[in-house]
Amino acid sequence: MGRAAVSPKGSFFATMQLNVIRQSEDAPIEYLPISREHRENDTIKFCQRTHDDLEIESVIIPMGGKGVHWNTLCVSSQVGCARGCTFCQTARMGLLRNLTVGEIVGQVRAANRHYGAAIRNVVFMGMGEPMDNLDNVMPALLRLEAEKEFRIARKRLTVSTVGRCDGIRRLAQLGWRTLGLAISLNAPNDEIRSRIMPINRTDSMADLRQAISEWPLRGGGHVLIEYVLLRGVNDQLDHAKQLAEFLRGLRTCVNLIPWNPIVGIDFETPDDSQTKAFQLELMNAGQLTFQRRTRGRSALGACGQLGNVDLRRTRQRERQPTIMGSNETAEAES
Ligand code: SF4
Repeated sequence: MGRAAVSPKGSFFATMQLNVIRQSEDAPIEYLPISREHRENDTIKFCQRTHDDLEIESVIIPMGGKGVHWNTLCVSSQVGCARGCTFCQTARMGLLRNLTVGEIVGQVRAANRHYGAAIRNVVFMGMGEPMDNLDNVMPALLRLEAEKEFRIARKRLTVSTVGRCDGIRRLAQLGWRTLGLAISLNAPNDEIRSRIMPINRTDSMADLRQAISEWPLRGGGHVLIEYVLLRGVNDQLDHAKQLAEFLRGLRTCVNLIPWNPIVGIDFETPDDSQTKAFQLELMNAGQLTFQRRTRGRSALGACGQLGNVDLRRTRQRERQPTIMGSNETAEAES
C-alpha cells in the first residue's frame, strides 16, 4: 500500500505510534461472509461471521439530499464492549474480543463489494469503544485513508469515544488535524454521568473537558458531542443549561439523539416537544446543536442498538462444565 503522509510533529510518542501502525500495514484485510442483514428503507445493518464464530455488526447509512448523496458506514471496533453504558445494547454483551485491523477495514470492503455501497464516510460508532482497541483502530484509519481500494479522506473518518481521556490524547498525538472526534457525553454533570456511564467514575467531566480542549482541530472544525436523550434522566431544560455551561469555550457541535428503545432496558424516549425545547435552550446559549434523524430503528441498527446478546449467552454456555447438566443454569444466570 502507499504510505499516507502523517504529521506527528516529531515527538517520540508519535514515532512509537507510527511503528505500531507500520507493523500492521501488511495485515490481510478480511472479506468475511455476510451472516445476517436487516433493512429499513435505505439503511442496511449487516453482520459478518468471524473465523471464531462471532459476529461483526456494521450499518450502511445513505446520507444527503438535494441531488447530493453519499454513504456513511458505521463500523465496529470490538465484538461487544466492556464499558457498561446503561442505555446501550452492546454493553449487555460484555466484551468478547477486540477486532483486528483486517476485520475493521474488512467491514468497508464488505459494504463496497457485497452491497455496492461506495462508502465515502466511515464513523467508528458501532460495537465497542475504539479507544480500548487503539492498536488496531489507528492502523485501520491509516489504511482506510491510504489504500487505493478505499481512499477515504481523513476529514471523512470519525472516531467516537465514551470519553477515555488517555485514548483521546494518544490519538491526538498523531496530529491528524482533520480526523473527526466524537464524544459520547450524554449527561450535563458528573452525578448523572457516573450513574449512566461507568467511565465517568475514572475519567470525570473536568478531565474530559481538558482532553477535548487539547484535541488538534483544523480551522473551522468542531468536536462532535453526542447526547442521547433519556426521558426524565438528562432531558430537562436545567440539564440543557448545565450542558451549555460545560461546553462554553470549546469548539463543539452537539448532536441530540432521542434514545432508541431496546427491549429489556428500562429507559424512555423523550417526546418531540421536549427534544425541541432542549435543543432550543442549547441554541439560545450559543451552542451549535442538531437533532439526529433516527435511522434504522426497526432494523436494530440505530445508535446504541447494535449487539447480539444471544452471542454472549452462547459463549457463557460453552464455558460452563457439562457434567452436572449445567447448561440450563448458565441460561438462567445470563
Ligand atoms: S455506548 Fe459505546 S462505549 Fe458505551 S457500552 Fe455502548 S458501545 Fe460501549
